[in-house]
Amino acid sequence: MRPIIVVHGGAGSWRVDSTLLDSIKAALENALLSGFRLSYSGSALDMVVESVKVLEDSGIFNAGTGSTVDLSGNASMDAGIMFEHRAGAVAYVRYPRNPIVLAKHVYSYTNHILIAGSAADDLARRLGLEPHPGPSERWVALYKDYIERIRRGERIPTHFSRSLSLWMNIGDTVGAVALDGNGRLAAAVSTGGIFLKFPGRVGDSPIPGAGFYANECGAAAATGVGEYIILSHLTLKVVEGICRGKDVAKASKEALDALTSRFGSKTAGIIAIDSSGRLYAAYNTEAMPWGYIDGSGKIALGGLPNPI
Ligand code: ASP
Repeated sequence: MRPIIVVHGGAGSWRVDSTLLDSIKAALENALLSGFRLSYSGSALDMVVESVKVLEDSGIFNAGTGSTVDLSGNASMDAGIMFEHRAGAVAYVRYPRNPIVLAKHVYSYTNHILIAGSAADDLARRLGLEPHPGPSERWVALYKDYIERIRRGERIPTHFSRSLSLWMNIGDTVGAVALDGNGRLAAAVSTGGIFLKFPGRVGDSPIPGAGFYANECGAAAATGVGEYIILSHLTLKVVEGICRGKDVAKASKEALDALTSRFGSKTAGIIAIDSSGRLYAAYNTEAMPWGYIDGSGKIALGGLPNPI
């Protein structure tokens, strides 16, 4: 079996100049190469965790050091992994620089699937994981600008208008799927969630079958509006479609189409792979930067936004 890894940097309406576009491409390639390097010594799980960690550290995507902020101006993150019929995830964490590493610890060293909030942060501290540097200047500036506009009574286009008004009265995730040399499949996702989400809100990314899913047939990782992805069981549907004999492209398209017809376009994207290493990326947004590296070492990128 020839190993293969696929990554994405989030579905959305990206506004980029050519410098940022170059950084996106470099970050995707770096993540692919770093994850693929582990295919010689490690499992599909090691591959996806490494790739996602590189994307978290890039600061470019909405995960790890690049995480967005909620309505209170703080970064809180979700992440999850799945491999060999088990999952590990963390939700609403604020301490670790790399939530995906904490999710791997939950997978490897506990009997649980999902650990959340301050208890997960305490676990990260006790494990000696690196602390998060706090929201980037770019997110803090954007936050201040939006809050000011909301105070002036401007209508802000958001999927979260109800939480927004509740709060005032008082997107881009990363993901990876991989097949290792022993034919095993894994999926991983990490996110800062959605800009101006309600504090405490948890999205699809730490929920198996929603933000990520992997079994012996296939693996899938999702991005987009977490609430819609949870209600659609998006990645479970993709992988179950593959298990029932559907081509990975058909299974991905059908699952995404069902979500789009219920919740509208500009809402989600998926990367998926099957046990033969066939892969597919689907999204109903303007862009979803993604890429893969296969056993021959060939790298291909797609879904890139047009620079302005
Ligand atoms: N799915 C993530 C969430 O809702 C956000 C994203 O993919 O950008 O938390």
